[in-house]
Amino acid sequence: MNFQGHEVTNQPPPLEGYDAYAADRWLAAAVRRASASWVAGAASSLGRFVGSAEAQAHAAAANQHPPELRTHDRFGHRIDEVEYHPSYHALMQRAFGAGVHSLAWKREREGFSGRAVLFYLWNQLEQGTACPVTMTFASIPVLAHAPEIGRDWRPKILADAYDPRPAPLAEKAGATVGMAMTEKQGGSDLRAVQTRAEGDGATWRLTGHKWFCSAPMSDAFFTLARLPEGVTCFFVPRSLPDGTRNPFHIQRLKDKCGNRSNASSEIEYRGTAAWLVGEPGRGIPTLIEMAHHTRFDIVVGVAGMMRAGLNQAIHHARHRSAFGKPLIDQPLMANVLADLALETEAAMLLAFRLAAAFDRSKDDAHERELQRVLTPIAKYWLCKRMAPVAVEAMECLGGNGYVEEAPLARLYREAPLNGIWEGSANVICLDALRAITRSPEAFAALSDEIAAGRDPRTAQPLERAGRMLADPATAEPAARSIVETLAVCTQASLMRRFSEEKAAEAFCASRLGAPAMGRAFGTLAADTDLRALVERAALAG
Ligand SMILES: Cc1cc2nc3c(=O)[nH]c(=O)nc-3n(C[C@H](O)[C@H](O)[C@H](O)COP(=O)(O)OP(=O)(O)OC[C@H]3O[C@@H](n4cnc5c(N)ncnc54)[C@H](O)[C@@H]3O)c2cc1C
Repeated sequence: MNFQGHEVTNQPPPLEGYDAYAADRWLAAAVRRASASWVAGAASSLGRFVGSAEAQAHAAAANQHPPELRTHDRFGHRIDEVEYHPSYHALMQRAFGAGVHSLAWKREREGFSGRAVLFYLWNQLEQGTACPVTMTFASIPVLAHAPEIGRDWRPKILADAYDPRPAPLAEKAGATVGMAMTEKQGGSDLRAVQTRAEGDGATWRLTGHKWFCSAPMSDAFFTLARLPEGVTCFFVPRSLPDGTRNPFHIQRLKDKCGNRSNASSEIEYRGTAAWLVGEPGRGIPTLIEMAHHTRFDIVVGVAGMMRAGLNQAIHHARHRSAFGKPLIDQPLMANVLADLALETEAAMLLAFRLAAAFDRSKDDAHERELQRVLTPIAKYWLCKRMAPVAVEAMECLGGNGYVEEAPLARLYREAPLNGIWEGSANVICLDALRAITRSPEAFAALSDEIAAGRDPRTAQPLERAGRMLADPATAEPAARSIVETLAVCTQASLMRRFSEEKAAEAFCASRLGAPAMGRAFGTLAADTDLRALVERAALAG
């Protein structure tokens, strides 16, 4: 009996004090497949942080105390600064210090796979900080279009240091980069950009606005502005080399559904100094390269978020009893957990297959084609599955899941965002269609990937998707069906090749057989070995 007058029983302990890397058997297998065991030390260090009570407290605090805008100092000078909670800085320090943003560019062959391990782990902890990490990671390929900017900025971007001071590059230990493209009149259709650029000696001056600009305290932004040649890419540093602040007026911070630790702002350019990136009029293709990499990152991040939800659900079900036994031993709960485990494992296999394709792209045309087409396919599908996974994981915790103190509520509010930014679902599906129809090699690479799994149940859905693709009248309205089919068939192939027979069969039977997709989780066939599927998904130790 405690002082409350009742004993607290049947409440699970918090899931903390574990190594999110070492305890994840699927992740260890992915690392082995990618020949990326060199990342194990860094991954274990990050995994212990992710699983620690300290990190989880930082993640909660950074979201409970969202950033605040300070447009002016107390003397009335415009400063356009965002103040973050110390926990946000602590997380940024850890993520950038661990090279979660940079590792891919430091290892020739397995860099993307190794870094994916870190980013997968990070997304099990906190997603607001994942946004600046991703944008900074994805800025590197765009710098190739502006070698002079790259010469100074690349070393600071790749430095594993977080330096939040608003200061000129020369004074900074490390630099972060954001992207500001979306305007009020259109985010998907960037041809509508209104911001204007005018020549001013060696630099350019921008006038206009951006309706969404996340992580506005980044040191620089890739942005789009209009020249007579068309929409063009520019680089906007927040502090200029002479030490003055570039006009970068933050109008408001968005009051967002989730992702609350991260500031997303509305900004105005008023004679803002900018440097040209790439060719005039080629701004959209130049920046799409950055978006392609952020889309890849979303795939990895969402797989990590699913893992976070699954971990919480299994943990709770192990420690909570109802109707005389632990929830995990209730057959229907085992079915829900097993089904969530299949979804999470297939998401993770897809993410790491994509990472391997990025790694191999340089030397292997087949992998390059696969990487091009699989990125939007995986981005679409994992984002579409994330929200139902989050909802179901939350429900496994019953009422506790819906309360802000549990991380599930935060995961739930975060769940739709990756589907919206970096290309919303329809735009992504149309991009996938473009990749397929423009390059027969891309479709061939994907077909080979699916065929390698040798599951005959992929044949019929693939044939149906092929028919819809071939008919211009049906391809566009059916784009979601086509992309979903290709995604699930690819996952089935990966499960066949890299998972255990039991899990692969349960995945293929439930996702490719009848009844097919679109039903709730927890509807696996009753004769499935549900407990075995849950046990192999549970964190080890
Ligand atoms: C929290 C948050 C942070 C963000 N941060 C940034 C940032 O840092 N930098 C930045 O540049 N942007 C940012 N964005 C903006 C984001 O990238 C855009 O919201 C997104 O690209 C969609 O653009 P939109 O909002 O203008 O919607 P619209 O372009 O109007 O699209 C609305 C809907 O129409 C669909 N649609 C569009 N075209 C077609 C079509 N041809 N066929 C069928 N359907 C179509 C879309 O899929 C979408 O569902 C952020 C957004 C959010 C929510």
